[in-house]
Order: sequence, then C-alpha cells, then structure tokens
Amino acid sequence: MAGNWKMNLLPNSAQTLVEALSNEKPQHTQVLYFPSAPLLGCMAQWNLGKAQFGSQNIYSQSSGAFTGEISAELVHALGGQFTLLGHSERRTLFGETSAQLQDKIVAAWKHQLTPILCIGETLEERESARHFEVIQHQLLDSLKKLLPITSPLILAYEPVWAIGTGKTASVDQAVEVHQFIRSVLNELQLGLGDSTSILYGGSVNAGNAGELFSQSDIDGGLVGGASLKSEDFRSIIHIQDQCLHG
Ligand code: PEP
Repeated sequence: MAGNWKMNLLPNSAQTLVEALSNEKPQHTQVLYFPSAPLLGCMAQWNLGKAQFGSQNIYSQSSGAFTGEISAELVHALGGQFTLLGHSERRTLFGETSAQLQDKIVAAWKHQLTPILCIGETLEERESARHFEVIQHQLLDSLKKLLPITSPLILAYEPVWAIGTGKTASVDQAVEVHQFIRSVLNELQLGLGDSTSILYGGSVNAGNAGELFSQSDIDGGLVGGASLKSEDFRSIIHIQDQCLHG
C-alpha cells in the first residue's frame, strides 16, 4: 500500500504522520511512503515501523550536471528502496515520455530501487474507447527494450480521470484493465503478467478500498490524498490486509 504525498507535508507533519502509523504491523501488506524529495533524507531517521519509502521520481543518470534532478543512487544512499515512475502528473505537467521512463527504470534497477511504473488513460481517451490502446502503448514503449525483465518491477494502473477527483474507477473497470495489463505483460514475456504486482490508484479511500482490494487482480493501492491523514491511511492498510488475509 503506497502513499504518494506529492508536494505536501513539511518535516513536522510528515514525521507525525509516519510515527502515528509506526506501530501498525499488517501481516500481509507492505506499507510504502513517497515523500517529496527534500524529506527523503529524514525518512531513515524517523520511526517508520515496518514501512519502507522511496522517491516520487528519479533522473536516468547516476550523477552529473543535471540541476534540479535527483539520482537513484542518492535515493538508495538515503535508504529509499522504491521509486514511482511516470505518474500522470509527471507525464502531463512535466512532459515525461515513455522513452525517458525506460531509461529511468534501468537507472532504478542499477541502484537497487524497485520502480513502480504508473500508467493510465485520460478521460478523453476513455470516453473515446481508446484506453486499452493507450495502456498497451505505455507498456510497450517503456518496457520493450528492457526484455527479458529479471529485476523487480511493480505496475500501478491510475486512470488519470480518477486521480484527485473523488471519482474512482468501478471495480469492473479496474479489474478489466488490470487483466488487460497482465495479458500485455504475458505477451511481452512468458509469465511476466502473472508474477507482477499491479496496484490501483485513483481516489482510493476507506469507503471504496474493500471492494477494490478484495479483487484478486488488484494487488494493492497507490493512494494520494487519503495517505496524508493517518486515520484514513491506517483504515485503508487494515482493509487491504484483511482482503489479503481472507
Ligand atoms: C495519486 O497521486 O497517485 C493518486 C492516486 O491520488 P488520489 O488518491 O488523491 O486520487
């Protein structure tokens, strides 16, 4: 269960949040935090309990004259173990392309970070019934040169129209796309779709978490707004853990 804090929280509020959840010991659920970059150095100093953390982005190069960027090597040196890649806000606001993401995935693996590759269609793409095509392209364009994939990779399906809007994909819509992602991955590489964790993201809250996470094709969640409040995030973690237990 991954909490994407985006560009929110200051050191005090971030520490209060993680420490409020540090006693949580979900049996089947790995909790991950994705703070904004300047907080990464603090995360290893705070009591996260069993949770782990990562960055919201990395650059494809390990070091050098790339003002404003952060390297996978640095994230790893600060104790991070994961990185989000290709979040829709990165793609739409900062022009990130699937080709760049391919290089970023390689950089993540080089420095022992597990990438969580985010994919998903816009409202216009869904309304014109192009969502499968868009998702297939996003997958092929960011993964095809990396085959065979032998390093850890997590996918996150995030319909752009559901992010921060309060609109969630219906269970049927989410499951249908998760199954489609598995089939594309299986075509790319035998068994890849079956062995890859696929998270759902888009206005997840304690009210809709149960129906989403009880689906066997939805392996977890990428949570924005609701991960900023300890009580909400705690409830979502518990719900997910119960779903995996059941
Ligand atoms: C996200 O930022 O990835 C996200 C899914 O946000 P929210 O849960 O607020 O829709």
